[in-house]
Amino acid sequence: MKNIVILGSTGSIGTNTLDIVDRFPEEFHVVGLTAGSNDEKLEAQIRKFRPAFAALANEAAAAKLRDRCADLPVKILAGNEGVAEVAQSQDAELVISAIVGGAGLLPTLAAIRAGKQIALANKEPMVMAGALMQAEAKKHHVRIFPIDSEHSAIFQSLEGHRREDVKRIILTASGGPLWGFSREQLQDVSPERALQHPNWKMGSKITIDSATLMNKGLEVIEARWLFDIPETQIEVLVHRESIIHSLVEYTDRSVIAQLGLPDMRTPISYAMRYPERMPLDLPSLDLTEISTLTFFKPDHARFPCLQLGYEALRIGGTMPATMNAANEVAVEAFLQSGIRFLDIPDIIRSTMEAHAPRPIDGLDDALDADHWARDKAESLVHALTR
Ligand code: NAD
Ligand code: MG
Repeated sequence: MKNIVILGSTGSIGTNTLDIVDRFPEEFHVVGLTAGSNDEKLEAQIRKFRPAFAALANEAAAAKLRDRCADLPVKILAGNEGVAEVAQSQDAELVISAIVGGAGLLPTLAAIRAGKQIALANKEPMVMAGALMQAEAKKHHVRIFPIDSEHSAIFQSLEGHRREDVKRIILTASGGPLWGFSREQLQDVSPERALQHPNWKMGSKITIDSATLMNKGLEVIEARWLFDIPETQIEVLVHRESIIHSLVEYTDRSVIAQLGLPDMRTPISYAMRYPERMPLDLPSLDLTEISTLTFFKPDHARFPCLQLGYEALRIGGTMPATMNAANEVAVEAFLQSGIRFLDIPDIIRSTMEAHAPRPIDGLDDALDADHWARDKAESLVHALTR
């Protein structure tokens, strides 16, 4: 029996994680659940999984949740501090990090510092402060197991091999909901259309990241820190069907890949139960049914965000945190219909160009860059929408 905490339990990764817990109640015990503001959904999860602790980042929602759960023996905390406190719950062994965006940095780092093993879906903290997260993980003897499907595939493809034999890793990208669109079509695309992902059902922020290819830019940086590999050895391949989840090429030109139908429960369960594999009752991959797998080079002209990710990684220091924050602001503005789709990369680039990068020596350096970039990107959004 493994005691777990889920950060972001009401989201897409969070609910998939609870689906696994539900299938294997003798394997996992939920100690804590946290979310942003959805008190109704969190209440239902508390009634079903009976954690000792829960938290909502939104204080008003947490007060409502307290009322809703007055008949239950659950301690409900509020605010970002409350979420971080649940992340450190004494009984927890494994923390599933599945908050969206930079908001996950503090609680995930708190869990690492408390010595919890981490199953990481929340990629933005790795982008903001990957070196710091890994240094803290090392210091506290914590392993960070990837949930992101590409990184789970790399992790699996590295197993049993010597790291010095790796030539490069190849992250696959679906290309997202708008692959093949012309610049004119991209200019006028609506949030509703951009949210229609062909292969994955995910939260709205990552779905827009997938449409701009910023998701792959973030994932290149995530891979840099998860696998301690330089960006010159990380490549991206567009693979529309999301069947090959990523590949590792070795020095003898042998290529090892991990395949499967696109279902996040496979990488989530692997991260939760490593090194064991869980018998998941899901459809098997039938390659004769799929019949054709297609591959393309990334289209940097129409989808410049991937290059911005590489650029931020090359510059280093506070630049990736700056890029991430500008992206969060721009995506939110696009979803609220304030700006156009192609304004997203423009806002990120302008924010990066205005930033004087500094080294990240501690958490405050990353948070300062994050705050600075949010202000800068918000002023750019304001100029476009007024
Ligand atoms: P989501 O929007 O569906 O869920 C986000 C969760 O975070 C919700 O529970 C929400 O309540 C919580 N949350 C939001 N803001 C918060 C805050 N300020 N404080 C505390 N909690 C907050 O997102 P998702 O699609 O599940 O993605 C979560 C993370 O996993 C993202 O970083 C994403 O990039 C990554 N990821 C997701 C998928 C996927 O299939 N959904 C795949 C790979 C990686
Ligand atoms: Mg991914």
